Amino acid sequence: KEELNIIQGALELRTKTVEDVLTPLTDCFMLALDVLLDFNTMSDIMQSGYTRIPVFENERSNIVDILFVKDLAFVDPDDCTPLKTITQFYKHPLHCVFNDTKLDAMLEEFKKGKSHLAIVQRVNNEGEGDPFYEVMGIVTLEDVIEEIIKSE
Ligand code: ATP
Ligand code: ATP
Repeated sequence: KEELNIIQGALELRTKTVEDVLTPLTDCFMLALDVLLDFNTMSDIMQSGYTRIPVFENERSNIVDILFVKDLAFVDPDDCTPLKTITQFYKHPLHCVFNDTKLDAMLEEFKKGKSHLAIVQRVNNEGEGDPFYEVMGIVTLEDVIEEIIKSE
């Protein structure tokens, strides 16, 4: 029964983590901070269909900002505005969470406010060097909701 699936999904929020539902960094549509908002870049953004786009500096694992598609409302592609100008104007806060965050806690954080997208990081202590924070991907409210309403 559909209702039972939903209840089941809701109960599983306590055991599943954001790592189970995230979109891996390699699959994320992102923009480099130094890009110009020319016609090509703006059509790539529109064609991606995403509302929130992580912005990285130098390497994809270094997310420094987030662009909302609505930030582009007053941007004219003919001006070739640097993306940096736009991100510095809006300065949307970055929301980071650890990979072992349970989905019920994540849902509460999303409900509390601000953004509906979080960057998932983990502590990488494999290898010889010092442990470091490593970005694994992104998680959105939709990923959590999907976990509740998915039918097996
Ligand atoms: P909205 O529905 O609020 O317009 P959206 O369609 O851009 O936003 P979500 O609905 O939040 O995105 O998420 C849908 C799926 O797409 C989720 O699995 C999420 O992890 C993924 N996603 C969101 N943004 C990106 C992105 N920039 N690159 C790749 N995947 C993304
Ligand atoms: P997003 O969060 O993806 O940027 P949004 O903030 O425009 O989208 P939603 O998060 O989908 O909108 O909805 C937030 C609330 O605002 C909901 O209660 C929704 O019904 C309401 N809402 C959305 N669009 C409008 C609108 N054009 N006029 C009035 N209320 C709206």
